[in-house]
Amino acid sequence: MHNNETHKVPTMADGRKDASEPTGPIEHVIIVGAGLGGLRSAQQLRQIGYCGRISLVGAEMHLPYDRPPLSKQLLAGEWEPDRVYLTDAEALTSLGIEVYLGKPAVALRPGEVELTDGTVLRGGAIVLATGAAARTLPGQPEHVFCVRNLDDSLRLRAALRDAKSLLVVGAGFIGAEVASTALGRGMDVTILEAQPVPLSRVLGERVGHMCARLIRESGVDLRTGVSITRFVDARDCPVSVELADGSLVKADVAVVGIGGKLNLDWIGDIGIDVSGGLLCDSAGRVLGLENVWALGDIASWRDETYGAHQRQEHWTAATEQAGAVARSIVGAEPPSATTPYVWSDQFGYKIQVIGRPDLADSLTTLHGEGLSGGPIRSTIIGYFRTGELIGVAGFSAARRFSSYRPLLLKRAGLDQVRQFAAASDNAAPEATIYDI
Ligand SMILES: Cc1cc2nc3c(=O)[nH]c(=O)nc-3n(C[C@H](O)[C@H](O)[C@H](O)COP(=O)(O)OP(=O)(O)OC[C@H]3O[C@@H](n4cnc5c(N)ncnc54)[C@H](O)[C@@H]3O)c2cc1C
Repeated sequence: MHNNETHKVPTMADGRKDASEPTGPIEHVIIVGAGLGGLRSAQQLRQIGYCGRISLVGAEMHLPYDRPPLSKQLLAGEWEPDRVYLTDAEALTSLGIEVYLGKPAVALRPGEVELTDGTVLRGGAIVLATGAAARTLPGQPEHVFCVRNLDDSLRLRAALRDAKSLLVVGAGFIGAEVASTALGRGMDVTILEAQPVPLSRVLGERVGHMCARLIRESGVDLRTGVSITRFVDARDCPVSVELADGSLVKADVAVVGIGGKLNLDWIGDIGIDVSGGLLCDSAGRVLGLENVWALGDIASWRDETYGAHQRQEHWTAATEQAGAVARSIVGAEPPSATTPYVWSDQFGYKIQVIGRPDLADSLTTLHGEGLSGGPIRSTIIGYFRTGELIGVAGFSAARRFSSYRPLLLKRAGLDQVRQFAAASDNAAPEATIYDI
């Protein structure tokens, strides 16, 4: 039924059309990228009543699946692949979503998308949600793993089965999660990190040092400020890397987790700079392209709260942006602004970060003793910019952490935040304010 009907773009109450809305009815929405953001966009469109045609194009043969478990439950063997899928073929059919799997888009032109098999889809709205691929090191051998997609995770899981040692390159969230999973399987784990302090760009140096302590105290050999010069062919072990000081680090299995490379090469030269992601307005419309929206890892949305463009490579961002994109396509009221949120499960901790700690000029402990060298568990850090709460990071403090969301949303001042902390148990005994 969905395919035969056409959604009429709503008009403004007084009959004028919003100049930013597409003109005429949108008969067909083409969504490129059948991952989290792409699937949620399609589902949201149906949920808000769009009954035109929806095509969902995916590069992989898999139905849309979730990525967070790839470095956690799936890799650990706690989950089987059937648990990571976000939907099934029947549900997609019942929503009238046409799915093109294993057919990556190879070209974007005004109003149309070409797939690798020559199929050309034409539509009034195009949504781009192609995510990122794993970034690799120069000269990275084939048998060195990355964890970006379902097949990567399953291959690594099989390789870890008989391995005794793991080398992880990169101490970001994904690298640390893979290390944590391997440690849980009783392996010797080494992490090599190029930065002197892990996560310092996201959480600041002081909290980055605490994260390094968390990793080391868990039993990982974390080496920071090291650079790899090359992979070496070694007879005595499967992986060997040479560091800048000439030393070798060897392991049975190696994983490189040094971030992502945006899947945007396929769109070719479309007359806009895509090197830092697709610049979008605060509803996901790509600036400089007619009737094209983008979301998720590849999209740098205008953040009205902080007045700048920001790309967020987080699960919650892709999910929330899908709702905003769907509403923008049909010309509905935008949802209320959201706050960036990311979590990571590692070494028995749940790390949660909300807001924009990267924009802070100072920070202070609100609960716990992690920053002063004590137990990290239950520590909550408040990040401030010009005296206003701009971000919060929690370390296995989920319940109390979420109580800071309202204060963050209203950009509460330092004194109010401290009073709030002091009113609950486990408030920080010292309240030094540190420069970031
Ligand atoms: C291992 C791992 C663990 C993570 N853990 C967390 C976590 O704990 N917390 C958190 O907040 N975030 C986490 N993330 C990040 C989160 O999963 C991503 O931010 C989110 O999936 C982004 O959604 P997306 O739709 O932009 O991209 P994706 O979900 O990556 O989907 C993009 C899809 O587009 C497809 N595609 C690429 N090119 C083309 C093309 N040319 N044509 C058609 N299709 C194409 C890809 O195959 C892919 O399926 C994790 C990511 C990974 C990889």
